Amino acid sequence: MPLRDLTASEQVRALAAGDTTSLELVDAHLAAVEADDVRAFLAVDAEGARARARAIDALPTRPPLGGVPIGIKDALSTRDVVTTAGSRMLEGFRPVYTATCVRRLEEAGAIVVGKTNMDEFAMGSSTENSAYANTLNPWDHGRVPGGSSGGSAAAVAERQVPWSLGSDTGGSIRQPAALCGIVGVKPTYGAVSRYGLIAFASSLDQVGPFSRTVTDAALLLRHMVGRDPMDSTSLDWPGAIALPTATDLTGLRVGVVEELMGEGVEPGVRGAIEASLREMEALGATVVPVSLPSTPSGLATYYVLAPAECSANLARFDGIRYGPSVAAETLLDQYEQTRGALFGPEVKRRIMLGTFALASGYYDEYYGRAQRVRTLIVREFTEAFRSVDVLASPTSPTVAFPLGDRTADPYAMYLADVCTIPVSLAGLPAISIPCGLSGGLPVGLQLAGPAFSENRLLDAAHAVEQALAFDTRPPGLVT
Ligand code: GLN
Repeated sequence: MPLRDLTASEQVRALAAGDTTSLELVDAHLAAVEADDVRAFLAVDAEGARARARAIDALPTRPPLGGVPIGIKDALSTRDVVTTAGSRMLEGFRPVYTATCVRRLEEAGAIVVGKTNMDEFAMGSSTENSAYANTLNPWDHGRVPGGSSGGSAAAVAERQVPWSLGSDTGGSIRQPAALCGIVGVKPTYGAVSRYGLIAFASSLDQVGPFSRTVTDAALLLRHMVGRDPMDSTSLDWPGAIALPTATDLTGLRVGVVEELMGEGVEPGVRGAIEASLREMEALGATVVPVSLPSTPSGLATYYVLAPAECSANLARFDGIRYGPSVAAETLLDQYEQTRGALFGPEVKRRIMLGTFALASGYYDEYYGRAQRVRTLIVREFTEAFRSVDVLASPTSPTVAFPLGDRTADPYAMYLADVCTIPVSLAGLPAISIPCGLSGGLPVGLQLAGPAFSENRLLDAAHAVEQALAFDTRPPGLVT
């Protein structure tokens, strides 16, 4: 079997058995990255990756992740390797340290081959807000891969890497995973350190894995979670992330979020979700409808809170501290001209919205009210988890949309995250797994659970994955 067809877990096993070397794996994947026709990567560190592979191959015993390649979203800092967050504002920026979650994976034997494309500062749902390139959907090159972690999702679907990291503020791991036909996990808020993640909206941001199988996602996540003294919002993950084994769902109570199955959900998406729910029943689960009445307000709530937080977080990009700068007469001119020239239109829109929402005259009316709705959403999830173990919904209301289709209409773009945002506002873990096709394009099933229920979610997703046996290979992909 070609090396790129092995899942990450299979690659780890092949290394342990002495059937391949890390250098062979890195070379096979780098060749695919270099031949890339979906523009998944912004930067490739071929020499660095080969050097680390050789070093791992020379060790007397292999680390737990063996020397398997990985792609990293360009929102995560990597020491000495250019990190741009998809923005001209950070063009050529070389961080002086590596994000904790990336460092932990490197220590466990993962090899970073490069940095993947993304919407500028993670704002977007199609990766079209990247200042550098549009990434194409591996299933249909005329369509978007989703976003904002579109490069990480496309790289995994294309088998340029067996797994990758993304960040998810309102859906940026789950939605591109759904649109590219792969697995994506947004962990519980605080489960993974954000030290070294370029901040977007700090009360929402989480880092998580993309992979082709649920087992691979669990394996990667296992080495990422846990408290980090460098991130005071990180938490000790209770116990350890287990590799999923469940093949049936006996006793699992599944709630279907009624508000996320109605208007706006494409019939083909609804059909694939309903078929998966029947499959879950056949596996022994009890499937019941659940109402979360405030979820339709999630989108509006998010688009006050996330811009408010980003307007504060992005204040640091002033042309003095990081990246390039526009020379000007006075310091104030320098700030203004740098920000005016180097931030893209969506980032500017968010900063303006957020600054407005936080202005003293409007604070109660917008920010204060959005916080109150967020509390209602949190309460409704808490209430729902008294009677069900997991909540199911589509990940995205539509399959991948054509490139350019929504770039002129921010609201249409924002709607792509209508199913993922409520879970983010509540800080809960969720997984998206591919569950079928609609018009030849992948559909994602989202399963969400209470805080720190990752093991149960991974187990449930694994059982569904085994039953559905979705083929993650995009049509025409040659490995
Ligand atoms: N698409 C949403 C936004 O544009 C979510 C992005 C994200 O999760 N980073 O804000």
